[in-house]
Parts: sequence; C-alpha cells; structure tokens
Amino acid sequence: MRYVDYCLEQFGHRMQKLTLNTGMGCPNRDGTLGTQGCTFCNNDAFVPAYCQPSLSITQQIDEGIRFHSNRHRQPVGYLAYLQAYSNTYAPLPRLRQCYEEALAHPQVEGLIIATRPDCVNDHLLDYLASLAKRHYLMLEYGIESCYDRTLQSIQRHHDYACTVSAIRATAERGIPCGGHLILGLPGESREEIVAEASLLSHLPLTTLKLHQLQLLRGSKLGADFLDNPASVPPPFTLGEYISLVCDFLEHLRPDIIVERYAAAVPPSHLADPSRSWHHPDGRPVKSSDLARLVTTELNRRNTYQGIRYIR
Ligand code: SF4
Repeated sequence: MRYVDYCLEQFGHRMQKLTLNTGMGCPNRDGTLGTQGCTFCNNDAFVPAYCQPSLSITQQIDEGIRFHSNRHRQPVGYLAYLQAYSNTYAPLPRLRQCYEEALAHPQVEGLIIATRPDCVNDHLLDYLASLAKRHYLMLEYGIESCYDRTLQSIQRHHDYACTVSAIRATAERGIPCGGHLILGLPGESREEIVAEASLLSHLPLTTLKLHQLQLLRGSKLGADFLDNPASVPPPFTLGEYISLVCDFLEHLRPDIIVERYAAAVPPSHLADPSRSWHHPDGRPVKSSDLARLVTTELNRRNTYQGIRYIR
C-alpha cells in the first residue's frame, strides 16, 4: 500500500505533514552520549524555515498551514510532525504540553513523533498509548542500520537490540511505529543492505522510510568527504540505487508501507551536490521520479514487494 492510500484509509482524505521544531535537542549532541552527533546528521538540512523553536507549537502549525495551503487544490488534513532531533527527549510534563498543544489545534488530525530508540521508556509509552486511544499517533524511530558495527561507526551510541526493543514495546501498546533506514552507510555491502529488509520484516513496523546516504554540510561525513573524498564510499548511481531498492523491497514484508525511497535536501546543504542524481537531460531526480522508476523496475522484473519475503 502507498502511504497516500494508508492516509486515505485512516483519515478519509489526503494528509499533509507539518514539520515542527520542538527544540528538544538530542542526547548525542548535548554531551549525554556524545557532542558530535551521528556522523550523517545535520538537522538544518530538512527543517523548513517556518520551524523556529522560538515560536510556539501552535504558531508553527499556523505558519506551516499557511506555507502549504497554496500548494494543494484538494482539501487536506494535517499531521503534526515532530521531526528534527529527538522528540521524546524531555521531562514528561514538557512532552505532554508539546504533544497536547499540537493535537489541540483544530486543523491537526494526528501526531508523528520522531525519536531515537533509546529515548523512550515504559512510563512515556504508557502515556503515549493513552493519547493514542484518543488521537492518531505514530512513533517514528531512527533505525539507520541493523548492524551494531555500523551503528558504532556512525556514532549512534545505541545498538540494534535497543531498536528492536523500543519498536516492540511501542507496537505492543497499540501505537503504530515507523522506521527510518539509511542505505549505503560506510562499511555495509549490498548484500547486507538487502538482508536488512528481512531483519526489519520481523519487527512490528507500520511504515518505513528509505534514504540514500547523503553527505550533508555540517555533518562529520560531509566534513570527512571535503577533507578527503576517498574516505567515504562512492554514491550509488541512479541505476544501482533503483536496483538495490527493488531487491530490498522484494525481501520486505508486503504490508510494511514504504513512505519514501530516498531523501532530498536543497543542494546548498550537500557537501558535493554532484553526487545527486540527474536525468540524462540534466534535471534533478525528484522523490516522485524515484518512486516511478522503482515501480517501473519492479514491473520490468515482474516482481513486487514481499515476493522473496520469508516469514
Ligand atoms: S540523527 Fe538524530 S540522534 Fe543522531 S545526532 Fe542527529 S538528531 Fe541526534
């Protein structure tokens, strides 16, 4: 199922996510676990200009609705999306205030909370489960990799067992879970990346976002690349990436909704924009193009998501 159809099923109409910035920070940046952050991370690359933590959640929602309202002809509903940093990383009273302010907005129909798997606990999940009885709620976990050696090399400061346990504990409470996985992290072979599809299929995930590795300015990997381009793996060509995604999908449980196949940030945030994909006529490849290319390749193979999935 496509994410747009999942939203139609859940809400009866198209949904627009409103990215909000709670300014909650991250234990991998404030010194609790580390100060440099994950090696691929620079949150500034994907936070829209209207998301200023100096504005209240309500003000950010209003700004976001204004920002998006010119872009949609059909009526849409809105999901508050706490995307940047770790949005369960604060004392419970502050979390409650933030989540409940977002859900109290008359045009917001649900809440998506992005966080690290090590930033949830039973107490918080019990509270979220009670909130999920009254509102649509999803927790979106940064998985990034299923391999401990990769998680260590990208400075995540948690292991895959922590991811498994957070996702299970969340889903057991009836809260839908999303995941975010990066394809092409240093040290991972193509076979290992495809094998992650099987590993993730055993988790109670509702949605999954796939992202290619992007070298962002302001991230450690971006700096390493600028220092020595040979120190980071070469990017996948567009054809290689489409083929990889299709192999991955073939092994993925068929009911997991793949929300996106790749990330897109403005070229000014990239350490080397020439690593981005372009059509033969020079146009940049957009997310919608990629989705179409993936579908075309699956059709060419006469396969589909889950054809190689083993229970
Ligand atoms: S990716 Fe998430 S956990 Fe890692 S440094 Fe960035 S905000 Fe923190």
